[in-house]
Amino acid sequence: MDAGASRNGGGRVAAGHHAELRGVTRVYPAVAGYRPVHALGPVDLDLRRGEFFSVVGPSGCGKSTLLEVLAGLQPPSEGKVSFEGKPVHGQVPEGVGVVFQEDASFPWLTVWDNAAFGLRRAGVDSAEIERRVGDALAFMGLKDFQRAYPAQLSGGMRQRVCIARTLVLQPRLILLDEPFGALDAQTRLLMGDEVLRLWRRTGATILLITHALDEAAMLSDRVGVMSARPGRFLDLVETKWPKERDSTIVSEAGFGEVTARLWHHLRGESMKALGQSGAAAAGGRAEA
Ligand code: ADP
Repeated sequence: MDAGASRNGGGRVAAGHHAELRGVTRVYPAVAGYRPVHALGPVDLDLRRGEFFSVVGPSGCGKSTLLEVLAGLQPPSEGKVSFEGKPVHGQVPEGVGVVFQEDASFPWLTVWDNAAFGLRRAGVDSAEIERRVGDALAFMGLKDFQRAYPAQLSGGMRQRVCIARTLVLQPRLILLDEPFGALDAQTRLLMGDEVLRLWRRTGATILLITHALDEAAMLSDRVGVMSARPGRFLDLVETKWPKERDSTIVSEAGFGEVTARLWHHLRGESMKALGQSGAAAAGGRAEA
């Protein structure tokens, strides 16, 4: 879908794609009386180094499956997945960070210890941990809360802790699976600004899974629109936003055009997905 050289956050030109999916499908095997579920694909995707790419699609169309296959957390049933030119299989590659949809902070650890968790496990020396955790907490506005426990924080702040925990690993590709799903609309807009800031500062490639069209339209360089299950890409929408952008872009005329184009595809697909879930509910074991 995207050929040729691409730019990373620092403006250097790098040949090839940062991550690639080629002919990827994912079929969940049959379990206890249920038929196999063809969740995804076939899908081709070329992520450009340093871009902000979002995936939108109806509920249950395979978005999370796509992210997990790209992260190496699930094997593709067919096709190939690569990151920085190397095949991905069996584990999250070094250089890839994942932030999940639920608040996944550890309730028994302080904010500081949550952020330090991955580095300690990787055996990074304590001075380096001190430096990276301090930096990530300052960047995410959590410095004053470093001794607090997650239960003492708001949902938005707990999700910042999860982002800080990924950030300290200095990922070059950040995969975000509905990270703001549980937050109210205003907090989501502000968290979107945080993620844009993080994206500019790190120069990382970002892939964001979301069901929110406005979120995808506001944040992304490109938005991949997926069909109802099995999810395939119906359209890739280039927003052409400037790199220095924030949530105020929602008041621009171009923003309405992008969301209208996304909704044009998604309206029909969401109705199909509703039909699928209705059929599954009526038939009990009607997955195909
Ligand atoms: P989305 O993220 O777009 O909501 P998912 O990738 O979570 O979609 O799921 C796609 C389809 O695969 C859904 O029909 C879901 O029920 C099914 N599915 C997801 N995980 C599993 C699993 N582990 N086993 C069987 N089916 C699954």
